[in-house]
Amino acid sequence: MVSTREKAKGRWREIFRLFGIEDRHLTGKHTSCPNCGGADRFRMDNRKGDGDYFCSGCGPGYGTDLIMKVTGLSFTDVVKRIDELIDGGEVGMSKDVPAEPAKDIEYIRKVTVKTLKESSSKDGLCYLQSRGIDEKPRDICFHPALGFYQDKKEIGKFPAMIGVIRDDRGNGVALHRTYMAVKDGKIRTSKKLMPGVAPLNNVAIRLYDHGDTLGVAEGIETAASAYELFGIPTWACINTKILETFIPPEAVKHLVIFGDNDEKFAGQFSAYKLAVAASKMTWLETIEVRIPSMVGDWNDFLMQKKLDT
Ligand SMILES: [Zn+2]
Repeated sequence: MVSTREKAKGRWREIFRLFGIEDRHLTGKHTSCPNCGGADRFRMDNRKGDGDYFCSGCGPGYGTDLIMKVTGLSFTDVVKRIDELIDGGEVGMSKDVPAEPAKDIEYIRKVTVKTLKESSSKDGLCYLQSRGIDEKPRDICFHPALGFYQDKKEIGKFPAMIGVIRDDRGNGVALHRTYMAVKDGKIRTSKKLMPGVAPLNNVAIRLYDHGDTLGVAEGIETAASAYELFGIPTWACINTKILETFIPPEAVKHLVIFGDNDEKFAGQFSAYKLAVAASKMTWLETIEVRIPSMVGDWNDFLMQKKLDT
């Protein structure tokens, strides 16, 4: 078995980003520390390729140490989460490229418009159907052959599901892409988040219109499954970091958090972390966390339920 340490080598920047550590800390130059702040006390040198860093405020460490400090998760949970991100395709197969400054807004707008123009709202529905979801949610479309990039080089074109990521005012700010390939008779996916102009804070893929009840989940498939199972309009927050810091619109009175059932409790931890934060939001009347009764996410639960009936 390949160790987490081996798998993560050369992918630390991508991993850090998924835990909400911003690119500005990862330039290799002296910057403020994502954990303890300051002006220039922190430097990620990645000398051994293990996400190594040095901070004169909170000390040196490896990538896992930094994530533990920033998220408050235990070592075991961090390793588990990294494994899931890599094995689940959330961390692309690309090796680290030197941190680049945020892309300019015109570039992102151009890519977005082009991608959406070439996409269709119907053609890829069979992917969602293969996951037990019969109706296409809003802000989802399908691209017949979207370029897949590694190290800035296109390595092929694959059909992709596109999700429009919107900020708290409803403006589209980035795209989430689920590339699909058929391997051994199964649809394999690789998920990629397009870097936004600004850090992606309080964003979601707004899959359904909501009334005073809104559900939130991590992935698109999980959120759509929650809707399919419970009829609760559920938005996808893309990753745990965004989920944990989600702030529902003030029209929402009842928040339902659809967490994953992870064997080592990382999914549950994120769901309850959001519940704790939401308990301080005065406009919410009820907050509920729902975890599937079996190990997996709500899409696994939906698929199992369909098999059983
Ligand atoms: Zn520090």
